[in-house]
Amino acid sequence: MAEPFPLAPSLWHATAPAASPTPPLATDRHADICVIGGGYAGLSAALHLAEAGASVVLLEAQEPGWGGSGRNGGQVIPGIKYDPSEIRAKFGPEAGRALINFVGSTADLVFALIEKHKMEVPHRRAGWIQGAHTPAMVEAVKRRAEEWADEGAETAFLDRDEVSRLLGTDRYLGGWMDRRGGGVQPLAYARALARAAIGAGAVLHGRSPVNSLQRKDESWIVRTTQGASVTAGRVVVATNGYTGDLIPKLRQTVIRPNSFIVATEPLSDNLAGTILPEGQVTSDTRQLLLYFRKDHTNRLLMGGRGPFREPHDASDWAHLERVVAKMYPQTKGLRFDYRWCGRVALTRDFLPHLHEPEPGLLIDIGCMGRGVGLQTAMGKAMAGYLVSGDSALLPFPIVPIKPLPLHALNELYVSAIITWYRMTDGGMKDKAA
Ligand SMILES: Cc1cc2nc3c(=O)[nH]c(=O)nc-3n(C[C@H](O)[C@H](O)[C@H](O)COP(=O)(O)OP(=O)(O)OC[C@H]3O[C@@H](n4cnc5c(N)ncnc54)[C@H](O)[C@@H]3O)c2cc1C
Repeated sequence: MAEPFPLAPSLWHATAPAASPTPPLATDRHADICVIGGGYAGLSAALHLAEAGASVVLLEAQEPGWGGSGRNGGQVIPGIKYDPSEIRAKFGPEAGRALINFVGSTADLVFALIEKHKMEVPHRRAGWIQGAHTPAMVEAVKRRAEEWADEGAETAFLDRDEVSRLLGTDRYLGGWMDRRGGGVQPLAYARALARAAIGAGAVLHGRSPVNSLQRKDESWIVRTTQGASVTAGRVVVATNGYTGDLIPKLRQTVIRPNSFIVATEPLSDNLAGTILPEGQVTSDTRQLLLYFRKDHTNRLLMGGRGPFREPHDASDWAHLERVVAKMYPQTKGLRFDYRWCGRVALTRDFLPHLHEPEPGLLIDIGCMGRGVGLQTAMGKAMAGYLVSGDSALLPFPIVPIKPLPLHALNELYVSAIITWYRMTDGGMKDKAA
């Protein structure tokens, strides 16, 4: 059967359970809340809103999980870019405490949802390892492990021998393990969230790109390209790395580079025993980080930055295949079965941004690389706020939409930086490892 949407054939797409039917919006509807975007943020918002008794219609341009949520590495990593001490310094003791609790529990939420809704999602919670690629980073991750341990997380600093044993490569100088992390089949998880949201009473429409948003009296009229509309009291916009021009200037608040992933054929049992033998998921401390793991069928996945533009052909993934060969020479001759990519949305301060430019219009954008947990939790938090009106339930303050100065130049700049880092540390130069 022909593909219903233009998703590059990823490993996740090939192996996820079938999606629940989400037919396009064909007639005008009314709801308490209309959610735009069917990734983890929108789906989790829809699920938690419906569970709280609100009537919800979700409109997704392609199909639930089509964006970053169906394309990512499936690494469930708690926290954000900032360590607890940095969060406290940035947000103050009280808001910092609340934010540390929030970001520290994002992985718990994902695994709890999988459990609660008996989701058909291949998953394993064996921990996340962050490998350090320079002596300075070894010191940084040692502090990070201690800080999160002080917050009650089960963490461990890993010396060079231990990190080499757990990763199956000697290319890192040390690292730390966060036992709260784990791995999921990310598209299966997105589809399962969609199924749970539908089960809770939310109405989901795929192939329903929203192209107009109009305020009328106390309501919003959300119209799709097919001309049908949803009239709702409130709207949630959760379009992240696939944000277009629906909301003026929103797209210009983020840089949206592509992240690329390759997956090998399944490893033999012998080979699998030499690579990540205990099943952790992992990423490293490089500026342009590498992230890798085995999936539930023992394929080895390697992810990292690629060209900013959309890929042309398999050569756009060749740098990742070279990384696999350097890091794991024992994989020589293995076939790469899948190559795919997706867009992340980077904000200037590396934090998700919440906006409410007009009453009843709530926007969540900017997710960086921790969106499996973070965007699931953001969706839940937004649902709590919309149901109660209590902004204390939001983990981040609502801020004005502020485009990055010289946005187009910024994208060019990031593109150049990516090329530079790929030539240096991102490219696994020997001096870095
Ligand atoms: C290759 C890659 C690897 C990654 N690896 C990891 C990882 O291992 N761990 C981790 O935690 N995070 C990872 N991330 C980040 C993570 O995938 C994202 O943070 C997360 O999926 C974002 O979820 P979201 O719901 O905010 O947005 P998305 O999942 O991107 O969903 C946005 C949706 O909005 C829809 N949309 C856009 N415009 C409209 C419109 N006008 N009308 C209707 N719908 C619209 C899009 O079709 C899309 O489906 C990775 C991302 C990528 C791309």
